[in-house]
Amino acid sequence: PVILGIESSCDDTSASVCVDGVILSNVIANQSIHEAYGGVVPELASRVHQQNIVPAVQQALLNAKVNKNDIDAVAFTRGPGLLGSLLVGVSFAKGFALAQNAPLVEVNHMQAHILAHFIGDHKPAFPFLCLTVSGGHTQIVLVKDYFDMQIIGQTLDDAAGEAMDKTSKILGLPYPGGPLIDKYARQGNPDAYKFTEPQIPGFDFSFSGLKTSILYFIRDNVAKNPDFITENMADICASVEKRIVTILLNKFEKAAKEYGIKQVALAGGVSANTGLRLGLHALCEKNGWEAFIPAMQYCTDNAAMIAIAGYYKYLKGDFIGQDVAPMARMIF
Ligand code: ATP
Ligand code: FE
Repeated sequence: PVILGIESSCDDTSASVCVDGVILSNVIANQSIHEAYGGVVPELASRVHQQNIVPAVQQALLNAKVNKNDIDAVAFTRGPGLLGSLLVGVSFAKGFALAQNAPLVEVNHMQAHILAHFIGDHKPAFPFLCLTVSGGHTQIVLVKDYFDMQIIGQTLDDAAGEAMDKTSKILGLPYPGGPLIDKYARQGNPDAYKFTEPQIPGFDFSFSGLKTSILYFIRDNVAKNPDFITENMADICASVEKRIVTILLNKFEKAAKEYGIKQVALAGGVSANTGLRLGLHALCEKNGWEAFIPAMQYCTDNAAMIAIAGYYKYLKGDFIGQDVAPMARMIF
């Protein structure tokens, strides 16, 4: 089957064509407009989606050399995400499906981040454990089947990506800060500064305390030396990154051991982080586990993951009616 995938949950407008489980195109229109505001402005995001959606789909069809009449189903992100952003993608998907007389497939964005592992040849086998770390979520998910997933731990407050972005804001770096923290961290000493590990029971996470301690640490040091940040940027970023990564991986290791899982995966935007990727590989070496990390372009938001999820739902004949509406909060 030929599946058109549409993703518009946050600030990236993306379209992808998947043919028989193989991704032939993945077009992503980024929105740079939010940089000036230090974060995504929902009202602006939906307007830019409206501008970008048709060109993105046209480009995805062109790149895949697929005619719109050949589309067998339209897969779209129903949620979770920003409602105004989701509405653009959902409305487009409905209109396109109606015009082409093709069925609609709804996709949960967080499941799709995990199903990105089924793009390409290095696919994990069920059951595996996935650490989903993105801008809005931090979850340890037991993946029993394509659409049979159980969240066994999650953040009680901020997401890991949020912790990255808020730290970068404190350091005066532009949005989104995660990639910049990564860049500076590579040149710094991860043991230069110590931040405490929160004591949260079970497999849950908390990042708000870390954010506050970073804020006070910077404030106190800048009071003593106004150039503290610029003089120590690399060491600060390396130390913060190390703490975020160890918070994540300590829990993930505990969970994998408890569930007896030997295939472990990363998903979501923060899985692009060099420290986290290296950390997971080290963990796997130590325990004899196998690591699965998506290619960079499938870590952050993209429609290829929606198209591949749509492909597996299509095989099950799992379609949704034209009366579907997006959901800002959507659990699985
Ligand atoms: P959600 O999927 O929860 O709805 P989202 O789609 O906005 O959230 P993603 O696009 O999956 O989130 O990820 C974006 C996050 O990833 C941002 O917080 C960004 O800072 C972070 N990020 C991206 N690259 C890196 C990196 N190299 N190091 C650390 N963080 C990174
Ligand atoms: Fe996402």
